[in-house]
Amino acid sequence: LEYLSGKAMEEINEKNMNNEFRPSGTKIKYVYGPVPSRRIGRSLGVDLVPFKICNYDCIYCQLGRTTSKTMERKEYISPELILRDLHDKLSSGDKPDYITISGSGEPTLNSSLDEVISKIKKMTDIPLAVLTNGSLLHLSEIRKSCCEADLVLPSLDAGEKSMFKHVNRPCKEIEFDEMVEGLIKLREEYDGRIWLEVFLLGGVNSLNSDVMKIKTRIDKIKPDKVQINTVARPPAENYALRVDYPQLVESCKLLGDNAEIIAGFTGQCRYDQSSISKNDILTLISRRPCSLEDIARGLNAHPNEIIKYIDTLISNGIVEEMRHSGKIFYFCKKTDTGRSPKC
Ligand code: SF4
Repeated sequence: LEYLSGKAMEEINEKNMNNEFRPSGTKIKYVYGPVPSRRIGRSLGVDLVPFKICNYDCIYCQLGRTTSKTMERKEYISPELILRDLHDKLSSGDKPDYITISGSGEPTLNSSLDEVISKIKKMTDIPLAVLTNGSLLHLSEIRKSCCEADLVLPSLDAGEKSMFKHVNRPCKEIEFDEMVEGLIKLREEYDGRIWLEVFLLGGVNSLNSDVMKIKTRIDKIKPDKVQINTVARPPAENYALRVDYPQLVESCKLLGDNAEIIAGFTGQCRYDQSSISKNDILTLISRRPCSLEDIARGLNAHPNEIIKYIDTLISNGIVEEMRHSGKIFYFCKKTDTGRSPKC
Protein backbone atom coordinates (compact mmCIF):
# COMPACT_ATOMS: atom_id res chain seq x y z
CA LEU A 1 0.00 0.00 0.00
CA GLU A 2 2.47 2.60 -1.12
CA TYR A 3 -0.24 5.26 -1.21
CA LEU A 4 -1.03 4.98 2.50
CA SER A 5 1.16 7.16 4.69
CA GLY A 6 3.20 5.23 7.27
CA LYS A 7 1.51 6.88 10.24
CA ALA A 8 -2.00 6.30 8.92
CA MET A 9 -1.18 2.63 8.29
CA GLU A 10 0.20 2.26 11.81
CA GLU A 11 -2.94 3.77 13.33
CA ILE A 12 -5.22 1.54 11.30
CA ASN A 13 -3.22 -1.61 11.90
CA GLU A 14 -3.21 -0.90 15.62
CA LYS A 15 -6.99 -0.51 15.59
CA ASN A 16 -7.29 -3.66 13.48
CA MET A 17 -5.27 -5.62 15.99
CA ASN A 18 -7.39 -4.30 18.82
CA ASN A 19 -10.46 -5.15 16.80
CA GLU A 20 -11.78 -1.67 17.45
CA PHE A 21 -13.55 -1.37 14.14
CA ARG A 22 -15.69 -4.49 13.66
CA PRO A 23 -15.36 -8.22 14.10
CA SER A 24 -12.87 -9.74 11.69
CA GLY A 25 -14.28 -11.79 8.86
CA THR A 26 -17.22 -9.43 8.35
CA LYS A 27 -17.66 -8.63 4.68
CA ILE A 28 -16.92 -5.15 3.33
CA LYS A 29 -20.25 -3.31 3.37
CA TYR A 30 -19.64 0.39 3.09
CA VAL A 31 -17.15 0.56 0.23
CA TYR A 32 -18.07 -0.55 -3.28
CA GLY A 33 -16.57 -0.72 -6.72
CA PRO A 34 -14.50 0.73 -8.22
CA VAL A 35 -17.51 1.67 -10.33
CA PRO A 36 -17.12 3.17 -13.79
CA SER A 37 -17.95 6.83 -13.44
CA ARG A 38 -18.64 8.90 -16.52
CA ARG A 39 -17.20 11.85 -14.65
CA ILE A 40 -14.11 10.70 -12.79
CA GLY A 41 -12.99 7.36 -14.21
CA ARG A 42 -12.77 4.38 -11.84
CA SER A 43 -14.35 5.54 -8.62
CA LEU A 44 -14.22 3.66 -5.32
CA GLY A 45 -17.50 4.54 -3.63
CA VAL A 46 -17.73 5.07 0.13
CA ASP A 47 -21.24 4.81 1.54
CA LEU A 48 -22.04 7.29 4.30
CA VAL A 49 -25.73 6.49 4.45
CA PRO A 50 -27.61 3.23 3.95
CA PHE A 51 -30.12 2.64 1.14
CA LYS A 52 -31.96 4.98 0.58
CA ILE A 53 -31.71 7.88 2.96
CA CYS A 54 -31.98 11.16 1.12
CA ASN A 55 -33.53 14.59 1.51
CA TYR A 56 -34.48 14.55 -2.21
CA ASP A 57 -36.56 12.08 -4.18
CA CYS A 58 -35.41 12.89 -7.72
CA ILE A 59 -37.63 11.62 -10.48
CA TYR A 60 -34.54 10.41 -12.37
CA CYS A 61 -32.79 8.69 -9.43
CA GLN A 62 -31.18 5.45 -10.55
CA LEU A 63 -31.58 4.03 -7.03
CA GLY A 64 -35.35 4.18 -7.34
CA ARG A 65 -37.72 6.19 -5.15
CA THR A 66 -36.47 7.49 -1.81
CA THR A 67 -37.63 5.18 0.96
CA SER A 68 -36.43 7.33 3.91
CA LYS A 69 -36.89 10.97 2.98
CA THR A 70 -35.42 12.91 5.87
CA MET A 71 -33.57 16.06 6.91
CA GLU A 72 -32.17 14.38 10.02
CA ARG A 73 -28.38 14.49 10.26
CA LYS A 74 -26.93 11.70 12.35
CA GLU A 75 -24.23 9.04 12.37
CA TYR A 76 -26.07 6.61 10.11
CA ILE A 77 -22.88 4.57 9.74
CA SER A 78 -19.98 4.94 12.16
CA PRO A 79 -16.72 6.39 10.81
CA GLU A 80 -14.80 3.45 12.29
CA LEU A 81 -16.71 0.92 10.20
CA ILE A 82 -16.37 3.02 7.06
CA LEU A 83 -12.62 3.52 7.51
CA ARG A 84 -12.02 -0.11 8.30
CA ASP A 85 -13.83 -1.16 5.11
CA LEU A 86 -11.87 1.36 3.08
CA HIS A 87 -8.58 0.15 4.54
CA ASP A 88 -9.47 -3.47 3.71
CA LYS A 89 -10.46 -2.54 0.17
CA LEU A 90 -7.30 -0.54 -0.48
CA SER A 91 -5.27 -3.45 0.83
CA SER A 92 -6.23 -5.40 -2.30
CA GLY A 93 -3.81 -3.13 -4.17
CA ASP A 94 -6.27 -1.97 -6.85
CA LYS A 95 -5.74 1.80 -7.07
CA PRO A 96 -8.86 3.66 -8.25
CA ASP A 97 -8.79 7.10 -9.88
CA TYR A 98 -10.85 8.57 -7.05
CA ILE A 99 -12.31 7.67 -3.69
CA THR A 100 -15.81 9.10 -3.77
CA ILE A 101 -17.89 9.99 -0.74
CA SER A 102 -21.32 9.08 -1.96
CA GLY A 103 -23.77 6.52 -0.78
CA SER A 104 -27.12 5.05 -1.37
CA GLY A 105 -28.62 8.48 -0.74
CA GLU A 106 -27.26 11.87 0.36
CA PRO A 107 -23.89 11.50 2.16
CA THR A 108 -23.89 14.91 3.86
CA LEU A 109 -26.74 13.65 6.06
CA ASN A 110 -24.12 11.65 7.96
CA SER A 111 -23.12 13.87 10.90
CA SER A 112 -19.61 12.36 10.90
CA LEU A 113 -18.88 13.63 7.39
CA ASP A 114 -16.04 15.83 8.64
CA GLU A 115 -14.31 13.00 10.51
CA VAL A 116 -14.60 10.59 7.58
CA ILE A 117 -13.19 13.09 5.08
CA SER A 118 -10.27 14.19 7.25
CA LYS A 119 -9.31 10.60 8.11
CA ILE A 120 -9.47 9.43 4.50
CA LYS A 121 -7.19 12.33 3.54
CA LYS A 122 -4.71 11.13 6.18
CA MET A 123 -5.04 7.50 5.08
CA THR A 124 -4.25 7.78 1.37
CA ASP A 125 -3.08 10.09 -1.39
CA ILE A 126 -5.77 8.89 -3.81
CA PRO A 127 -7.82 12.00 -4.72
CA LEU A 128 -11.05 12.37 -2.76
CA ALA A 129 -14.33 13.50 -4.31
CA VAL A 130 -17.62 14.35 -2.59
CA LEU A 131 -20.78 13.61 -4.54
CA THR A 132 -23.67 15.61 -3.08
CA ASN A 133 -27.02 16.99 -4.11
CA GLY A 134 -25.81 20.29 -2.61
CA SER A 135 -28.92 20.81 -0.49
CA LEU A 136 -27.02 21.27 2.79
CA LEU A 137 -24.15 23.42 1.56
CA HIS A 138 -25.79 26.46 3.15
CA LEU A 139 -24.57 24.96 6.46
CA SER A 140 -21.07 26.24 7.19
CA GLU A 141 -19.88 22.98 8.80
CA ILE A 142 -20.72 21.01 5.65
CA ARG A 143 -18.91 23.51 3.42
CA LYS A 144 -15.91 23.30 5.77
CA SER A 145 -15.85 19.48 5.43
CA CYS A 146 -16.17 19.64 1.65
CA CYS A 147 -13.29 22.12 1.49
CA GLU A 148 -10.94 19.29 2.53
CA ALA A 149 -11.79 17.23 -0.57
CA ASP A 150 -10.00 17.47 -3.92
CA LEU A 151 -13.20 17.68 -5.92
CA VAL A 152 -16.82 18.49 -5.07
CA LEU A 153 -19.56 17.26 -7.39
CA PRO A 154 -22.85 18.99 -6.53
CA SER A 155 -26.06 19.08 -8.59
CA LEU A 156 -28.37 21.73 -9.95
CA ASP A 157 -31.25 20.62 -12.14
CA ALA A 158 -33.49 23.65 -12.02
CA GLY A 159 -33.32 27.40 -12.32
CA GLU A 160 -36.44 28.09 -10.27
CA LYS A 161 -38.36 26.78 -7.29
CA SER A 162 -41.26 25.09 -9.10
CA MET A 163 -38.96 23.07 -11.38
CA PHE A 164 -36.74 22.18 -8.40
CA LYS A 165 -39.79 20.77 -6.59
CA HIS A 166 -40.91 18.85 -9.66
CA VAL A 167 -37.54 17.30 -10.55
CA ASN A 168 -35.88 16.83 -7.16
CA ARG A 169 -38.94 16.50 -4.88
CA PRO A 170 -36.97 17.82 -1.87
CA CYS A 171 -37.96 17.72 1.81
CA LYS A 172 -40.29 20.64 2.53
CA GLU A 173 -37.65 22.33 4.73
CA ILE A 174 -35.33 22.85 1.74
CA GLU A 175 -35.65 26.26 0.14
CA PHE A 176 -34.47 26.59 -3.46
CA ASP A 177 -32.81 30.00 -3.00
CA GLU A 178 -31.03 28.87 0.17
CA MET A 179 -29.73 25.78 -1.63
CA VAL A 180 -28.34 27.90 -4.49
CA GLU A 181 -26.83 30.33 -1.94
CA GLY A 182 -24.98 27.37 -0.37
CA LEU A 183 -23.41 26.56 -3.75
CA ILE A 184 -22.34 30.18 -4.20
CA LYS A 185 -20.78 30.25 -0.72
CA LEU A 186 -18.93 27.00 -1.37
CA ARG A 187 -17.29 28.60 -4.41
CA GLU A 188 -16.26 31.61 -2.35
CA GLU A 189 -14.67 29.46 0.37
CA TYR A 190 -13.24 26.53 -1.61
CA ASP A 191 -10.04 26.59 -3.67
CA GLY A 192 -10.55 23.08 -5.07
CA ARG A 193 -12.50 22.04 -8.12
CA ILE A 194 -16.29 22.18 -8.35
CA TRP A 195 -17.88 20.23 -11.18
CA LEU A 196 -21.60 20.96 -11.20
CA GLU A 197 -23.89 18.33 -12.66
CA VAL A 198 -27.02 19.40 -14.51
CA PHE A 199 -29.37 16.50 -15.15
CA LEU A 200 -31.65 17.20 -18.11
CA LEU A 201 -34.91 15.36 -18.74
CA GLY A 202 -36.90 15.27 -21.95
CA GLY A 203 -40.09 17.34 -21.74
CA VAL A 204 -39.27 18.45 -18.18
CA ASN A 205 -36.29 20.82 -17.80
CA SER A 206 -34.60 20.67 -21.21
CA LEU A 207 -36.40 23.44 -23.07
CA ASN A 208 -33.99 26.25 -23.97
CA SER A 209 -35.91 28.59 -21.65
CA ASP A 210 -35.42 26.16 -18.71
CA VAL A 211 -31.75 25.73 -19.51
CA MET A 212 -31.28 29.52 -19.60
CA LYS A 213 -32.84 29.81 -16.13
CA ILE A 214 -30.33 27.23 -14.86
CA LYS A 215 -27.55 29.21 -16.59
CA THR A 216 -28.53 32.37 -14.67
CA ARG A 217 -27.91 30.49 -11.40
CA ILE A 218 -24.70 28.89 -12.68
CA ASP A 219 -23.28 32.31 -13.54
CA LYS A 220 -23.44 33.15 -9.83
CA ILE A 221 -22.13 29.78 -8.63
CA LYS A 222 -19.09 29.86 -10.96
CA PRO A 223 -18.20 26.14 -10.98
CA ASP A 224 -15.02 25.00 -12.74
CA LYS A 225 -17.06 22.74 -15.00
CA VAL A 226 -20.71 22.20 -15.80
CA GLN A 227 -21.41 18.56 -16.62
CA ILE A 228 -24.60 17.79 -18.50
CA ASN A 229 -26.18 14.43 -17.94
CA THR A 230 -29.36 12.65 -18.88
CA VAL A 231 -31.08 9.34 -18.20
CA ALA A 232 -28.88 6.33 -18.98
CA ARG A 233 -30.16 3.84 -16.39
CA PRO A 234 -33.67 2.93 -15.29
CA PRO A 235 -35.04 6.02 -13.46
CA ALA A 236 -37.30 6.22 -10.40
CA GLU A 237 -40.20 7.43 -12.56
CA ASN A 238 -41.07 6.26 -16.07
CA TYR A 239 -41.73 9.84 -17.18
CA ALA A 240 -38.10 10.85 -16.51
CA LEU A 241 -37.08 10.69 -20.16
CA ARG A 242 -33.68 10.81 -21.80
CA VAL A 243 -32.76 13.91 -23.83
CA ASP A 244 -31.47 13.12 -27.32
CA TYR A 245 -27.92 14.00 -28.27
CA PRO A 246 -28.59 17.01 -30.56
CA GLN A 247 -30.65 18.61 -27.78
CA LEU A 248 -27.84 17.98 -25.29
CA VAL A 249 -25.41 19.69 -27.66
CA GLU A 250 -27.70 22.70 -27.92
CA SER A 251 -28.06 22.88 -24.12
CA CYS A 252 -24.31 22.57 -23.77
CA LYS A 253 -23.80 25.61 -25.99
CA LEU A 254 -26.32 27.59 -23.93
CA LEU A 255 -24.60 26.68 -20.67
CA GLY A 256 -21.28 28.21 -21.72
CA ASP A 257 -17.67 27.40 -22.50
CA ASN A 258 -17.01 25.30 -19.41
CA ALA A 259 -20.00 23.01 -20.08
CA GLU A 260 -19.56 19.45 -21.33
CA ILE A 261 -21.80 16.47 -21.99
CA ILE A 262 -21.08 13.48 -19.77
CA ALA A 263 -24.01 11.29 -20.79
CA GLY A 264 -22.49 8.05 -22.10
CA PHE A 265 -19.35 6.62 -20.51
CA THR A 266 -16.23 6.94 -22.66
CA GLY A 267 -13.50 5.71 -20.32
CA GLN A 268 -10.78 3.29 -21.38
CA CYS A 269 -11.32 -0.45 -20.92
CA ARG A 270 -8.50 -2.33 -19.21
CA TYR A 271 -9.62 -5.87 -18.63
CA ASP A 272 -6.69 -6.83 -16.47
CA GLN A 273 -8.15 -8.26 -13.28
CA SER A 274 -7.83 -12.02 -13.32
CA SER A 275 -9.81 -12.90 -10.19
CA ILE A 276 -13.23 -11.47 -9.47
CA SER A 277 -15.83 -12.92 -7.18
CA LYS A 278 -19.61 -13.09 -7.09
CA ASN A 279 -19.42 -10.78 -4.11
CA ASP A 280 -17.60 -8.08 -6.15
CA ILE A 281 -20.43 -8.15 -8.67
CA LEU A 282 -23.16 -8.15 -6.03
CA THR A 283 -21.59 -5.25 -4.15
CA LEU A 284 -21.57 -3.24 -7.35
CA ILE A 285 -25.08 -3.98 -8.58
CA SER A 286 -26.69 -3.71 -5.14
CA ARG A 287 -26.01 0.06 -5.38
CA ARG A 288 -27.47 0.65 -8.80
CA PRO A 289 -28.51 -1.28 -11.89
CA CYS A 290 -25.48 -1.89 -14.11
CA SER A 291 -25.03 -3.13 -17.66
CA LEU A 292 -22.51 -5.86 -18.42
CA GLU A 293 -20.18 -3.19 -19.76
CA ASP A 294 -20.52 -1.13 -16.54
CA ILE A 295 -19.56 -4.14 -14.44
CA ALA A 296 -16.65 -5.03 -16.71
CA ARG A 297 -15.26 -1.50 -16.57
CA GLY A 298 -15.76 -1.17 -12.83
CA LEU A 299 -14.09 -4.46 -11.97
CA ASN A 300 -11.48 -4.46 -14.76
CA ALA A 301 -12.70 -7.87 -15.78
CA HIS A 302 -13.66 -9.32 -19.14
CA PRO A 303 -17.43 -9.37 -19.89
CA ASN A 304 -17.22 -13.08 -20.79
CA GLU A 305 -15.96 -13.79 -17.31
CA ILE A 306 -18.67 -11.70 -15.67
CA ILE A 307 -21.58 -13.15 -17.62
CA LYS A 308 -20.79 -16.60 -16.22
CA TYR A 309 -21.30 -15.29 -12.69
CA ILE A 310 -24.37 -13.30 -13.70
CA ASP A 311 -26.00 -16.37 -15.28
CA THR A 312 -25.52 -18.32 -12.06
CA LEU A 313 -26.80 -15.44 -9.92
CA ILE A 314 -29.91 -15.16 -12.12
CA SER A 315 -30.57 -18.91 -11.97
CA ASN A 316 -30.22 -18.77 -8.19
CA GLY A 317 -32.80 -15.98 -8.03
CA ILE A 318 -30.35 -13.44 -6.56
CA VAL A 319 -30.05 -11.14 -9.57
CA GLU A 320 -32.68 -9.91 -12.01
CA GLU A 321 -32.37 -8.23 -15.37
CA MET A 322 -34.40 -5.41 -16.88
CA ARG A 323 -34.36 -3.69 -20.23
CA HIS A 324 -34.06 0.09 -20.50
CA SER A 325 -33.48 2.07 -23.71
CA GLY A 326 -32.55 -1.12 -25.54
CA LYS A 327 -29.89 -2.11 -22.99
CA ILE A 328 -29.96 -4.87 -20.37
CA PHE A 329 -29.28 -3.87 -16.76
CA TYR A 330 -28.67 -6.23 -13.87
CA PHE A 331 -29.69 -5.57 -10.27
CA CYS A 332 -29.92 -7.44 -6.99
CA LYS A 333 -33.38 -8.74 -6.19
CA LYS A 334 -32.81 -7.75 -2.57
CA THR A 335 -30.13 -5.56 -1.03
CA ASP A 336 -28.74 -6.30 2.44
CA THR A 337 -31.33 -3.87 3.77
CA GLY A 338 -33.97 -6.22 2.41
CA ARG A 339 -35.14 -3.74 -0.23
CA SER A 340 -34.98 -4.00 -3.94
CA PRO A 341 -33.15 -1.05 -5.55
CA LYS A 342 -36.33 -0.39 -7.55
CA CYS A 343 -38.80 -0.44 -4.66
S1 SF4 B 1 -30.36 11.32 -7.39
FE1 SF4 B 1 -29.17 11.67 -5.52
S2 SF4 B 1 -30.19 13.39 -4.56
FE2 SF4 B 1 -31.62 12.58 -6.03
S3 SF4 B 1 -32.89 11.13 -4.87
FE3 SF4 B 1 -31.20 9.97 -5.80
S4 SF4 B 1 -29.65 9.89 -4.22
FE4 SF4 B 1 -31.06 11.55 -3.63
